[in-house]
Amino acid sequence: MLIVMDKDATPAQIEAVVAKIQGLGYVAQPIPGGERVAIGILRNPGPVDPALFLDMPGVIQAIPVSKPYKLVSREMKRADTLITFPNGLTIGRGHFVLIAGPCAVESETQALTIAHAVKAAGAQFFRGGAYKPRTSPYSYQGLGEPGLKILAKVRQETGLLIVTEAVDTDSLKLVAEYADVVQIGARNMQNFSLLRQAGQVGKPVLLKRGLYATLQEWLMAAEYLMAEGNSQVILCERGIRGIGEHARNLLDLATIPAVRRESHLPILVDPSHAAGRRDLVAPLARAAVAAGCDGLMVEVHHEPEKALSDGAQSLYPEQFAALTRDLATLKPGGWA
Ligand code: PEP
Ligand code: MN
Repeated sequence: MLIVMDKDATPAQIEAVVAKIQGLGYVAQPIPGGERVAIGILRNPGPVDPALFLDMPGVIQAIPVSKPYKLVSREMKRADTLITFPNGLTIGRGHFVLIAGPCAVESETQALTIAHAVKAAGAQFFRGGAYKPRTSPYSYQGLGEPGLKILAKVRQETGLLIVTEAVDTDSLKLVAEYADVVQIGARNMQNFSLLRQAGQVGKPVLLKRGLYATLQEWLMAAEYLMAEGNSQVILCERGIRGIGEHARNLLDLATIPAVRRESHLPILVDPSHAAGRRDLVAPLARAAVAAGCDGLMVEVHHEPEKALSDGAQSLYPEQFAALTRDLATLKPGGWA
């Protein structure tokens, strides 16, 4: 249930509503944004009677929230969530962003070379894993903390903000210290203890869609983050298991308008992990932008044939630059 207050409601009237919710044994969560204060009721085991609130001074509406996800839902918060970083960059509707970089941080030279190239092509964020969730235990697992230090150097030298993945609760602590955005990967989308802790780190979290996750499961995973008090959640579609061998995954473009309908959170698209091969990345990226996503995450490597992870799907820097020029003609965000 969402309690909507009159725009002239006094702090005392708002306090009284919060106290009533708490007195019933539920959690009161003020919802930011808009010119009116709204207060969400959470952790109520059954329906709440709107009449309990409707006669309180300053209350104008009590709206039942029908979806299992509450804080994530558009029913709770109509305005799009915008996440603004200390340097003024914003992620969210109307602020198209490009996140680019290698799958994994391999060395300082590799990271800086790619970072300078993607920055010149228009990226605002650098991506690169210091901790890699790999299908095989024998594959490259990432540099760990030395990789995070390289990412800090990339930010210092280029001004690009850093997106990097936490694979477990141990790496999360370190990742949250170094990253501007903490990534939770597809394989961890339903790692609920990791989600709970990521909800508490005080940094924006980019939550990838799980390999087989329905939209509802994905949004419920985002609810875990928000339920811990983190309102800075970014969703990222990266393809789900398909039936074909022609691409690594099946990019589900319908999630872009569907997320927009169901949720106020920003929705980005990662065409690289959907494609699995370089030649499919740009067409999928253009399609995602045409469908109205709020930004892209693209893997780029200056020597993809030598990459320690995901080289086959990594664009050469000049291919990434050509893609960003194409995207400009699509007016990113212009139709959303
Ligand atoms: C990645 O971004 O490098 C990655 C491992 O992605 P995903 O979790 O989507 O597979
Ligand atoms: Mn990758």
